[in-house]
Amino acid sequence: MRQKKFILPESEIPTQWFNIQAIMPNKPLPILNPATREPLKAEDLYPIFCEECANQELDQTHEWIDIPEPVREQYTYYRSTPLVRAYELEAALGTPAHIYFKNESVSPAGSHKLNSALAQAYYAKKQGITNITTETGAGQWGGALSYAAKKFGLECAVYMVKISYQQKPYRRSIMQTFGAAITPSPSMSTRAGKDIITKNPNDNGSLGCAISEAIELAVTTPNCKYTLGSVLNHVCLHQTVIGLEAEKQMAMAGEYPDIVIGCFGGGSNFCGISFPFMRHNIQDGKKTRFIAAEPAACPKLTKGKFEYDFGDEAGLTPLLPMYTLGHGFKPANIHAGGLRYHGAGVILSQLMKDGFMEAVDIKQTESFKAGVLFARTEGIIPAPESCHAIAATVREALKCKETGEAKTILFNLSGHGFVDMSAYDQYFEGNLQDFEISDEEIARFIKDADDLNK
Ligand SMILES: *Cc1c(COP(=O)(O)O)cnc(C)c1O
Repeated sequence: MRQKKFILPESEIPTQWFNIQAIMPNKPLPILNPATREPLKAEDLYPIFCEECANQELDQTHEWIDIPEPVREQYTYYRSTPLVRAYELEAALGTPAHIYFKNESVSPAGSHKLNSALAQAYYAKKQGITNITTETGAGQWGGALSYAAKKFGLECAVYMVKISYQQKPYRRSIMQTFGAAITPSPSMSTRAGKDIITKNPNDNGSLGCAISEAIELAVTTPNCKYTLGSVLNHVCLHQTVIGLEAEKQMAMAGEYPDIVIGCFGGGSNFCGISFPFMRHNIQDGKKTRFIAAEPAACPKLTKGKFEYDFGDEAGLTPLLPMYTLGHGFKPANIHAGGLRYHGAGVILSQLMKDGFMEAVDIKQTESFKAGVLFARTEGIIPAPESCHAIAATVREALKCKETGEAKTILFNLSGHGFVDMSAYDQYFEGNLQDFEISDEEIARFIKDADDLNK
């Protein structure tokens, strides 16, 4: 029988994360203090993040960073995640390409996000922190953090984007089941939230605003730290466990990817699957292509600009050198809530600028069409976010069909869609809208970021 699924024994689960910063030909530009325009030091981040995460954020020297044993122990409950050869998807597409996917949906939280949530919760606990806070959009990060907080005995407070709080009640239930306290954002419990509600009482919320609220809570509450589920360097670092496992599993399958694909919100799952393979492009002359699949409604890599911008709407974060649509950008309300963020991680923004990766933008009907095909062939209902990676994979596989090339394609299945079935319902009813944003509108939002770079 042909082998479809590749799993690593516990002893082969990585003991270290891979820090691509250490080997980048051009290091990322410094993160700046917005008031002084001075590069930030790790200590400057200590009021917001726990110290170990702050140190990792700016670490450009250590190529390998040990995974603490208690974190690795938690990983072993769901890792290694399976690498699967998608034979039936290949057959349905009639492509000579070999398609593999790494299935991160098998984590207790249903997505890759737990890989970093466990690390961040552990480091907070180790430092004597009692409370952690965060924001969540679609609810995936909040769910992962709630679970991780419970595992390490921390209290967890989550600001959830108001529109998702209303539209995704089950994600809220999941967080509550794991013991977290949830507040819809914008809320009246913070200055940032009050300001936004005062300007517009009907504001539906955004990730940028929820971030502002969570940071404000962290800096004004003793023994409370903020955590972030994407974008930041230390989050992408923790996610490299995905690609490091995939590298060993691809070797078990006797293959090496020509193309690696991940959907793209702030970058963490894309970086996680890509960076371990990208190190062989940088160091060993491999020619793998890396494709980030972003939504057409929030196209920071394909239509944004590389410059300094805030990570949140209210402008509380340091200035980050990244591809951005402007921190005031209001993405259309697509179902892939986890991809509705205005910026991209600092590391991969530099790698994008330097030509180590590419990006494509995908409309939501194309993404769901690919997701349904995947469900019907491979038996897993993908998260709306992950559907973007599948759609990009389908595009590449169909190109192979035209050219007759049997390329090896690896994509990351970042999560399952069991809590997103209403989005699938809308797709089947033909009620899903495709959003594309005009160049004029993008220019208008990017102007805010331009002003910060004068
Ligand atoms: C959050 C999320 C994403 C997007 O975030 P990245 O940091 O870009 O990976 C993608 N897929 C799923 C399932 C998510 O929960």
